[in-house]
Amino acid sequence: MEEHDIICTGCPKGCQVTIKTEGDKITDIYGYECPTGKEYAINEFKNPTRILPTTVKVEDGEFPLVPVKTAAPIPKSDLIKAMNFIAEKTVKAPIEIGDILIENILNTGVDVVATRNIKKESEV
Ligand code: SF4
Repeated sequence: MEEHDIICTGCPKGCQVTIKTEGDKITDIYGYECPTGKEYAINEFKNPTRILPTTVKVEDGEFPLVPVKTAAPIPKSDLIKAMNFIAEKTVKAPIEIGDILIENILNTGVDVVATRNIKKESEV
C-alpha cells in the first residue's frame, strides 16, 4: 500500500487530497472538499499534465524572445522534451498574442501560442 499526497489547485483553499494505492489501483481517496478535488487528484495520479510556459527565439523582432505557452496542459512526462523542442525553434516577427507558433507539439494535439505581441524591429 502506498500513499500519495496531492494539493488540489482547483481553488485557493488548496485541500490536501490523499490517495492510497496498491500497484496502479486506487484503494482509497480522501481530503477533498468537493468533487473537483477528487477528480483533480485522480487525474494527477493517473496522468499528470501541466501548461508549459516558456519562450521562443524571434528573428527580426523588437525583442529576441517571445513568451509562449501551450494552449492546453500536456503530459508532465513530456515537459522536458517539449522545452528542448521549443528551444530549437525560431519564429519571425511580427507576432500577435494567440498566434500559433508551433502546431501539435510532440503529437500531443496541443499547440504552442504567443502570449504577447512582438513588432518587427524595423517598425519600432
Ligand atoms: S477540493 Fe474543492 S474546495 Fe478543496 S481545493 Fe480543491 S476545488 Fe477547492
